[in-house]
Amino acid sequence: MTKRLTALTGDTVHEEAILEAADALRQGKLVAFPTETVYGLGANALHPEAVRRVFEAKSRPPTDPLIVHLHSGAQLELVARAVPALAQALIEAFWPGPLTLVMHKTHHVADAVTAGLPTVAVRMPDHPVALALLAVAGVPVVAPSANVFSHTSPTTADHVMDDLDGRIDYVLDGGPTAIGVESTVLDVTIEPPRILRPGGTPLEDLQRFARMIEVRQPVTPESHEPQPSPGMMQRHYSPRASVLLFDGEPDKVRSGMRREADRRQGLGDRVGVLTTTEDRYAFADLGEMAVGLGSLSDLDAVARNLYAAMRALDARGVDVILARMVPEHGTGLAIRDRLLRAAEGRIILVD
Ligand code: AMP
Ligand code: MG
Repeated sequence: MTKRLTALTGDTVHEEAILEAADALRQGKLVAFPTETVYGLGANALHPEAVRRVFEAKSRPPTDPLIVHLHSGAQLELVARAVPALAQALIEAFWPGPLTLVMHKTHHVADAVTAGLPTVAVRMPDHPVALALLAVAGVPVVAPSANVFSHTSPTTADHVMDDLDGRIDYVLDGGPTAIGVESTVLDVTIEPPRILRPGGTPLEDLQRFARMIEVRQPVTPESHEPQPSPGMMQRHYSPRASVLLFDGEPDKVRSGMRREADRRQGLGDRVGVLTTTEDRYAFADLGEMAVGLGSLSDLDAVARNLYAAMRALDARGVDVILARMVPEHGTGLAIRDRLLRAAEGRIILVD
């Protein structure tokens, strides 16, 4: 049985919920909790059996390392060593916040946490419930997204229950998360530092501190008529339905998506569309099968809504989800990465 506790009302953190959950965490139980990015599945990072259970509960392969969550900069020396000056500057500027730093690990960090790597990924989440839980537990906490591996990350406690009810001990409910996509992961063990995953901290903000190398996902462009073809990358951050991702000149993308929606409906498919405010009118006839992401002029809103929108369409039983690419700036880079992975690396270019 998974016990669900309300941990936040307005700005008030519920202390009894935190005390109960922190105690469970220390003892090696699994506690899902809200962060500013997505909900995390927490376990005591110093408790090998608890760490093992995280992989089991998520069906996550043991080769995929976990992020260690801290409540203070002072906890850093327990898990990371040889912290470079750049990392210190980034920590001062961005913690607590959606920036994960990959650094050399200490011997306190078990191999299971880092999938055997000599480095450890660390961050301090910017959420009152997460910080209270971590402070009271007093131990570093591994917290991958609280979903079944490769599925869409959870942005509400309901999403966590949909995926993990019965497989974990607690869920702390702190309402919907503010950012909605995962943290930016930055490897600072190399020079220049390398962005391993774009996320909630925009590249532009990091570049004020140092030149960064970006690792882009491979993309397979397709001609206008989409044909089913094998994926180039592992599906990740994905809904159950297959995702068709469109890119090109905005008006042509809209008409390309419309044509494809009609074609698929003609074949008897249940079609879902992730619409931007700008595109919405073109899919009005789809009713609840068209779910709004927000305006392209507010990419932070699109990031916040993205995963919940994918889950909503899955719940409505769609076979295919049509979506458009978004601009690259700010949170757009993270949204593009998640859409691309959900679409298994394929983009339909409409020109
Ligand atoms: P999740 O917690 O599910 O959002 O995913 C954590 C991600 O952080 C992993 O999938 C890796 O991409 C990255 N990560 C964690 N630890 C390391 C590490 N030591 N080196 C490189 N990347 C890491
Ligand atoms: Mg994840």
